[in-house]
Amino acid sequence: MKAVIIGAGMGGLSAGIALTKIGLEVEVYEQVTENKPVGAAISVWSNGVKCLNHLGLESETAALGGIVDTMSYVDGLTGDTMCRFSMQPLIEEVGQRPYPVARAELQLMLMEAYGMADINFGKKMVAVSDGPDSATVTFADGSTAEGDFVIGADGARSLTREYVLGHPVERRYAGYVNFNGLVEVDEAIGPATEWTTYVADGKRVSVMPIADNRFYFFFDVTMPEGQPFERGTAREVLAENFTGWAPGVQKLIDKLDPATTNRVEILDLDPFHTWVKGRVAVLGDAAHNTTPDIGQGGCSAMEDAVAMQFAFADHPDDVHAALAAYESARTERAGDLVLRARKRCDVTHAKDPEATAAWYDELRSEDGTRIIRGIVSNIVGGPLT
Ligand code: FAD
Repeated sequence: MKAVIIGAGMGGLSAGIALTKIGLEVEVYEQVTENKPVGAAISVWSNGVKCLNHLGLESETAALGGIVDTMSYVDGLTGDTMCRFSMQPLIEEVGQRPYPVARAELQLMLMEAYGMADINFGKKMVAVSDGPDSATVTFADGSTAEGDFVIGADGARSLTREYVLGHPVERRYAGYVNFNGLVEVDEAIGPATEWTTYVADGKRVSVMPIADNRFYFFFDVTMPEGQPFERGTAREVLAENFTGWAPGVQKLIDKLDPATTNRVEILDLDPFHTWVKGRVAVLGDAAHNTTPDIGQGGCSAMEDAVAMQFAFADHPDDVHAALAAYESARTERAGDLVLRARKRCDVTHAKDPEATAAWYDELRSEDGTRIIRGIVSNIVGGPLT
């Protein structure tokens, strides 16, 4: 049984590792010529960490991860703490600590685990098709690859998705831009082992620890889609958008490196439930492009990979049965996470300002119970629960 995987992001690589482990022949093709992940870091929640552990990467993941012992919300304007609570109840309930990690390091870890030399870089898929006995992809250089099945882990702008659905889809702008990067830990911004989030006016500024004394930071700024931005000017843009905010936020703006600060317009896609056509399947953002508001897009991609492995372990000789099992295991769960993230996104970014004001009030009386319950409900429900 041979799989052709398009895309060496966290979804495609996790799938490559997972399927290799159960004895499938795997080929991975990636359009870029080198490892250059977009974005600074990612919070790998406990469900994602369990997937990485399942792939045999437990100690490697823990070595890259920041330690988040507490979580807090801070009034972005006054700097007053609205709530602060321990993450321990969450860790105990789900049985695994979450790990924020640098994207480049996570990507490198997955590439090395799969085998760097076995990734076919510089191969942009331009067409996919399937027939009675095999599925075939064609690359921009005119070459082709053939397998018993094809996994399109080709990200948010997936070409495979178009093939599987039979038509292109329009993604939805979520209404905000996310600026993100890495800075050295600074307690003037937030405690070293805390995920600190400043909120006010439908905007959000967050720092969380990753390995080696660094904070992953991000700023969410609501603005219309398609605004001009010159790379390197993040400090000016953020200073303007966060005038009058608390000293910790000003410190972060002073400290960040504008040259390496990323700016990403946030989009998502309505959930859809057809993930397979014949011998071709979508996986990861190709199947469920979500806003990052509950930090589950990448975790969900890793869950897809594990579910794909389970499906082929159960149906080793039947591609169609395995892909059908994969699809039925995943679409509802992944679609639910997309909609949960969208809901969270709307409250955080003041789509309805009254609902957001009510949330700020709730945060002032929060002891952690409600927030942890919400996060746990995002974490459970995947292939490793
Ligand atoms: P990608 O990572 O996009 O990889 C797709 C790969 O396919 C790319 O390498 C691309 O070059 C390649 N490719 C595309 N087209 C072709 C082609 N035609 N031929 C060959 N190769 C191709 N998720 C979390 O779990 N936690 C978080 O905290 C989190 N934070 C986020 C913050 C931001 C600002 C954003 C934007 C997203 C965040 N996410 C988070 C989501 C996460 O980044 C994605 O869900 C994840 O990267 C999806 O992985 P993927 O492998 O499906 O797609």
